[in-house]
Amino acid sequence: MKVLIGHYTLESNEHVKGLTELDSFNLKFGDRLLSTMHVEDIFRAHNIELIPAIFADAHSAKVLSKEAYKYIHDKMIRSVKENLHDLDGIYLFLHGASKVEDLPEGSGERQLLKDIRQLTGPYLPICVVMDPHGNLTEEYVSMMTIGRCYRHSPHTDLVETHRLVAKMMVDLLNDKKSLVAQYRKLPFVLGGERSVSTDEPMISINKKLDEIEQDARILSASFHVGYLRHDNFAAGSGLVVVPSDMKYKDYAQTVLDELYQFCVSKYSEFDYHGHALDVPEAIKQSIESDDKHVVVTDSGDNVTSGAMGNNTYLLNEYLALENYNNKQLLFAGITDEQTFQLISNSDFDDYFDIELGTDSDDMSRKVKLTVKVKGKGILQQTFGDTDNYGETITLSMKDKPIDIVLIDKSVSFAERHQFNAANIDLSQYHLVVVKQGYIFPELKEYCDYSIMALTQGPTNQKTENIVFKQIMRPMMPFDEIDETD
Ligand SMILES: [Zn+2]
Repeated sequence: MKVLIGHYTLESNEHVKGLTELDSFNLKFGDRLLSTMHVEDIFRAHNIELIPAIFADAHSAKVLSKEAYKYIHDKMIRSVKENLHDLDGIYLFLHGASKVEDLPEGSGERQLLKDIRQLTGPYLPICVVMDPHGNLTEEYVSMMTIGRCYRHSPHTDLVETHRLVAKMMVDLLNDKKSLVAQYRKLPFVLGGERSVSTDEPMISINKKLDEIEQDARILSASFHVGYLRHDNFAAGSGLVVVPSDMKYKDYAQTVLDELYQFCVSKYSEFDYHGHALDVPEAIKQSIESDDKHVVVTDSGDNVTSGAMGNNTYLLNEYLALENYNNKQLLFAGITDEQTFQLISNSDFDDYFDIELGTDSDDMSRKVKLTVKVKGKGILQQTFGDTDNYGETITLSMKDKPIDIVLIDKSVSFAERHQFNAANIDLSQYHLVVVKQGYIFPELKEYCDYSIMALTQGPTNQKTENIVFKQIMRPMMPFDEIDETD
């Protein structure tokens, strides 16, 4: 048997100016694609040949340009067309939160799946692994044979979920069944920072999903947090349940209805992960804390959710301090392509002056600094991605106990391998400021105390302050919902 395999990830924040182009993508084809997608051995063990289409991953960024999308879309469609009469199924990772310039519905994933289904018709198995931070629609889910997202945020079960869906797909191909994933939309828009899976109510919701998957009539069950940076009819959380056989379709709907009630009843429990503080209190606590290692996340400039990582606002606030309580501070990193280019080829042995900041808005105003180059390194991405994305320059300030990692691409420093590749010894620092919302597991392990600073910016965490016009109503937190309905 033959299965076509592909991957498309871009979390597009529409509140960030500009467009994502193809050069922001890590593109892989052939064997490099296969060795990245965690499932090659599972299919091979069942004598299923994998046909690599395209792996395109830009993590989180801006809205995608139509030209860049066309390239990715056309590669995928061409692979499907060329192999259509040999294919027994298609296995895809589709993140779910891409937005493409000039596409009627915006979503690159929905268009892609629609165009693939145009070629295959409704029955060819298409099994889709998803990120929970994507927006779904009834039509989109109904084009999937199996649709299953990660349970955990941060996504510690990424590999496990890819492998789980691959195993489900192998069984499905052997059993010769046609399935259709079932969907129900939830009446709330949720931020990722209020739905971390080590907190309630996600613990209870995930427990319930695990129980549902124990039922032989149900193949899989997922809770989708959704993505709140698109004002679009698809915005909002959602539920996907796949029956193990279409004779259980009605039962799957009953399960969805029960899950809906359960999730709505838990809505008031969704709250910020950890210590979420307004900026003055975040700064005060982080400096005064006796804990050895403190991490502050600049949540309004959360690169893992599409922000640019160029805000200098928090840096400025820390620069204004006179007393650092004998702490050594690290800002990892700040994105400023122009300044990076300006100093990357120079050989500075001594201190020099720079103006750090892209000046794109009030949060990224230029800051005058006297610095020297402390070190250079390699820029790597999150989710264990050890590919080379560029370089890093670590700068030390002359008259402040502050180091800054300057980068020319938007990357969130969230995992150990990223600091190691950048030649940064985390043990030297008492206070590390990163461009994240909820703190990632490896940083949480590193630090003794973490604070989410509620900064302004394109990933402002105060959902209730975001303006939505095109969403379904009523929708919490903007409208009241009668939970007994
Ligand atoms: Zn995600």
